[in-house]
Amino acid sequence: MIDLTLNNGVTMPTLGLGVYQSAPEDTAAAVAEALRVGYRHIDTAAAYRNEREVGEGLRRSGVDRDEVFLETKVWVSDYGYDQTLHAFEKATGKLGVGTLDLLILHQPAPTRFDTTVAAYRALETLLADGRVRAIGVSNFMPHHLEKLLQETAVVPAVNQVELHPYFAQRDVQRADADHGILTQAWSPIGGITFYPGWGDERRNVMEDPTIVDIARTHGKSPAQIMLRWGIQQGRSVIPKSTNPARIAENLDVFDIELSADDLARIDALDTGVRGGPDPDQPRDAFFDVVIDEA
Ligand code: NAP
Repeated sequence: MIDLTLNNGVTMPTLGLGVYQSAPEDTAAAVAEALRVGYRHIDTAAAYRNEREVGEGLRRSGVDRDEVFLETKVWVSDYGYDQTLHAFEKATGKLGVGTLDLLILHQPAPTRFDTTVAAYRALETLLADGRVRAIGVSNFMPHHLEKLLQETAVVPAVNQVELHPYFAQRDVQRADADHGILTQAWSPIGGITFYPGWGDERRNVMEDPTIVDIARTHGKSPAQIMLRWGIQQGRSVIPKSTNPARIAENLDVFDIELSADDLARIDALDTGVRGGPDPDQPRDAFFDVVIDEA
């Protein structure tokens, strides 16, 4: 496992387990299994409604809490200074921990950016008080970042965005790098290009002939090649699986090196078309979601 150093000196394992769409009943087992085979970083969110089970998996694993990098996200309906301070209490209460390693805003609220800024100021307070070790954002496009940076003091440590070979968001990666923000890839093995319920027009990046060809030459799977592409380009990757064999497979990516040609071939697959929601077009229903008390 490789550690990445965030812009405030905190280190974070480059690869973590994602738990979006992990059913609550599967989540504790997946987290415990991931920790058993060597993961030390878990990415959850209030909106995934499985923070409790992540905490349960952590305790079930027997791994010391301080050895695990715990990352979670505040949902938009909890934005605002006091609301976001309270969202921290809800998250830590459900996870059963006193502090978080990384707390991020799940997405900008473009039509209510004042509440986004107020939420981020609450993260700054939590950071100053030592309740969180690092703070950041998710799904922030460069113009959202610029607006946030103008109104707040602490540069986000991380920006977690959709990022896989079919949608590499180079403009976002460049803006992040210019500000010293680490880019973290969600759907790093292209889950958004094949998980059910997101339309039928998509091409599954897991089956892309270039990815399959590179995988064959290295004796690895397509998922492992995509993870390796992200890691070698300096990103954090958080693949999701609830399947023990795939949880292990996704961690087994530190014994190969993709060539410059491999990386360039994968870079060339970018379509410029996002698979997930447009951060500038949040659905009104997002703001009506009620995140339970701990
Ligand atoms: P992903 O990790 O790219 O792909 C997950 C999908 O791939 C699941 O269907 C999983 O099924 C399958 N899978 C896992 N390992 C595999 C392997 N080795 N071979 C073949 N299939 C494999 O997609 P994601 O869940 O969208 O993204 C990862 C994490 O990013 C999420 O869990 C969440 O933590 C975060 N995320 C954040 C946002 C945001 O807005 N900030 C949005 C989406 C996701 P099985 O479980 O059956 O293995």
